[in-house]
Amino acid sequence: MKIIAADVLVTSPGRNFVTLRLTTEDGVTGLGDGTLNGRELAVESYLRHHVAPLLIGRDAGRIEDTWQYLYRGAYWRRGPVTMAAVAAVDTALWDIKAKTAGMPLYQLLGGASRSGALAYGHASGRDVPEILDSVRAHLERGYRAVRIQSGIPGLDSVYGVDGAPGEAPAPVGGHPRPFEEVWDTPAYLRHMPGVFEAVRAEFGPALPLLHDGHHRMTPIQAARLGKDLEPYDLFWLEDVTPAEDPTALRLVRQHTTTPLAIGEVFNSLHDYGPLLGERLIDYVRSAVTHVGGVTAMRKLLDLAAVYGVKSGIHGPADISPVGMAAAIHLDLAVHNFGIQEYAPHSARTLEVFRPSYRFTGGLLHPSDEPGLGVEFDEEVAARFPYEPAYLPVNRLGDGTVHDW
Ligand SMILES: [Mg+2]
Repeated sequence: MKIIAADVLVTSPGRNFVTLRLTTEDGVTGLGDGTLNGRELAVESYLRHHVAPLLIGRDAGRIEDTWQYLYRGAYWRRGPVTMAAVAAVDTALWDIKAKTAGMPLYQLLGGASRSGALAYGHASGRDVPEILDSVRAHLERGYRAVRIQSGIPGLDSVYGVDGAPGEAPAPVGGHPRPFEEVWDTPAYLRHMPGVFEAVRAEFGPALPLLHDGHHRMTPIQAARLGKDLEPYDLFWLEDVTPAEDPTALRLVRQHTTTPLAIGEVFNSLHDYGPLLGERLIDYVRSAVTHVGGVTAMRKLLDLAAVYGVKSGIHGPADISPVGMAAAIHLDLAVHNFGIQEYAPHSARTLEVFRPSYRFTGGLLHPSDEPGLGVEFDEEVAARFPYEPAYLPVNRLGDGTVHDW
């Protein structure tokens, strides 16, 4: 079954998404997500100019061979742009194979290991009362696990904190130049234990609570935060140190029993370095879209399983519904599932992408539609052309650039 068309579709229904649509000679189509937040057109160009011409005439059934052909064949391996492009092709080929088989993708991955995938939402607030309201709103929407992000006294805006409680998270992009925030790690370290104390006091000991450090701490600062949060029994503490140095987590691990998660900015299984073999983390955070697709994610999760490490697939709103659907199929199938991040897409995004996955009782299910179970409406997409948008940049009080 030969591929006869490879269309790269860029649309911005509130935020930018890059989608690859492959069509076979039998008329079967497959979708893949290649969205790289803030650098979308680099992936579009990579796909359009360097990958799409190679796909025409290839056998759509040869998924592993195509992955290796694009990965090894480029000579220049890895990197977020390359791997998002490889992911888009790989995911689209899995969509085609599952549609051709007349099965939902999770069946091809071994079938369901559970009835649904536990999802966590993004609760946040500028202060403790807003956070408590936001947690309450998430529980009312059905969530059974929540991430907590808090405003910090003295700082105007902080990653992960929205305006009014209970509102859907605002798009991170939308600025023609990066928005600049000011950051203060000592103030953050002083403030966060009290936030979790208040949330535990209000909602009890059982609700799974997560927190994202967004790569901002040194190892010794992260070790201190992990220790200080131990009484509040976090499900995980995420991205505490800059992820490109996995050995930083050795020091953190020596000092705290708070579970650790990392990997959303990784683009290869190899980025995990010693993290799995030395058991320095408890959850792998890669996105299907950024690690190289379903094929690469399955290999990563199988390797993680050898060391008792579980999945925590990255699922912010800048992963398109196509990337989210791929994640949910994997969540249902793999044995070492941990939790799935789930930030619902805007109504406008869901006019362009029509996913069939559903969220009920705190659990995500990919549905039993053949393939990924996502439709792409090209006419609606055309109403929302690309808009330049950047992620914010962080500076310390003295102007020094810091990790955002
Ligand atoms: Mg994160």
